Amino acid sequence: MSAYLPTTPRFLNSRRNSIHLAAVGSSSSSRSRIPSSYSFLLRPLASSSSSDEAPNYFPDFCPLLRMEVLRSSYNQLFRATHILLLFTISTNFFAEKGFMTKASLEKNKGLVENLCQYGVIKSKKVAEMMETIDRGLFVPYGSQPYSDSPMPIGYNATISAPHMHATCLELLKDHLKPGMRALDVGSGTGYLTACFAMMVGPDGHAIGVEHIPELGAASIKNIKRSAAEPLMRGGSLSVHVADGRLGWPELAPYDTIHVGAAASEVPKALLDQLKPGGRIVIPVGNFFQELKVIDKNPDGSVATRTDASVRYVPLTSRSAQLHEL
Ligand code: SAH
Repeated sequence: MSAYLPTTPRFLNSRRNSIHLAAVGSSSSSRSRIPSSYSFLLRPLASSSSSDEAPNYFPDFCPLLRMEVLRSSYNQLFRATHILLLFTISTNFFAEKGFMTKASLEKNKGLVENLCQYGVIKSKKVAEMMETIDRGLFVPYGSQPYSDSPMPIGYNATISAPHMHATCLELLKDHLKPGMRALDVGSGTGYLTACFAMMVGPDGHAIGVEHIPELGAASIKNIKRSAAEPLMRGGSLSVHVADGRLGWPELAPYDTIHVGAAASEVPKALLDQLKPGGRIVIPVGNFFQELKVIDKNPDGSVATRTDASVRYVPLTSRSAQLHEL
C-alpha cells in the first residue's frame, strides 16, 4: 500500500491522503473517516473488489479522486472569481454613478487637511470648497485622485495637481462672491469650474470653456456627479466647447477669469472681457512658465504680478494639441 503513496498527487492534503488509504484498506474503521461527500466514490469500488485486486483498482480510483479534488478546487476558484467580478462591477458602478465611499470622502478630507497644514490652503472658504467638490469624481477611473500631483486625462491634457487648484482658488476667492461671474478657460475635467460655480452660487455664473469635445463632455458628466449638479441643472453653471483664447463674450464681463493652460502671452480677448475690479489668473510662458495675477483697476489699466513658477499644458489650437498624440 505504501508503494502507492509516492503516486499520490502533491496537492492532496493529509485529509485527502486518508481517503486514499481508507479506500484501499476498505476496513469499516478507516471507512468511517471518509467524509460523506466522498463515500459515493467508494461504494462501487469496494463492492467490485477483493483484497487481491487492490493493486489493480487503485490506479483507476486515482483519476476519480483527482477529478473530485480538481472539481472542488475549480468550484472554489469559480466562486472566488465571481465574487471578485461582482465586487469590481459594483465598485465601477458606484464610482460611475458618483457614490463616493466613506473611505474616498475621508481621503479627500485628508488631502485638504494636508494642503491646509502645508499652508497652501489658507482660508476656511477654500478648504470647505475643496472638501465639498470631491476630486475623486473628476479623475479618470483607476488613477490616484488624492495624491498631490497632476494626472493625465487624455488628449495631451492633465487635471492640475490639488496644490495648483488650491493656489488658484486662494488667489481668486475674493472675486468669487455670491452673484459674481467666473470664466474658466481650458476647463479640462471641470473641477475648478464646479468650485467656481459653488462659490458664486445660483445667482452668479460659472462658465467652462474647453476645446476638446470629448473632455468637455466628460467634464459635464463629472460635474453632474458632484455637489455642483443642481447649479448645472439650474443653468448658472455651463461648459462650452470652443476656443478659450476668445473667452466667452456672451456672458462678459467677468469678475474672475482663470486659465488652466499656459499662454505664450495673455490673450487680448480675455483682458477685454474682465470687469474693472476683476482678476485674471493665468500661466504665461512656453518652457519656463509663471503664474500671473492680473488685476484690472477701475480706470481700466491693469496691474500684473507673478505668483509662482509653474508647469502647465499649452493654451493652443485643438489641432496643435492633438498633433502631439
Ligand atoms: N483646470 C483644468 C486643467 C486642464 S489641462 C483641470 O484641472 O482639469 C488644460 C486644458 O486646457 C486641457 O483640457 C486642454 O484641452 C485645454 N485647452 C488648451 N488649449 C485650449 C484652448 N485654446 N481653448 C480651450 N481649451 C484649451
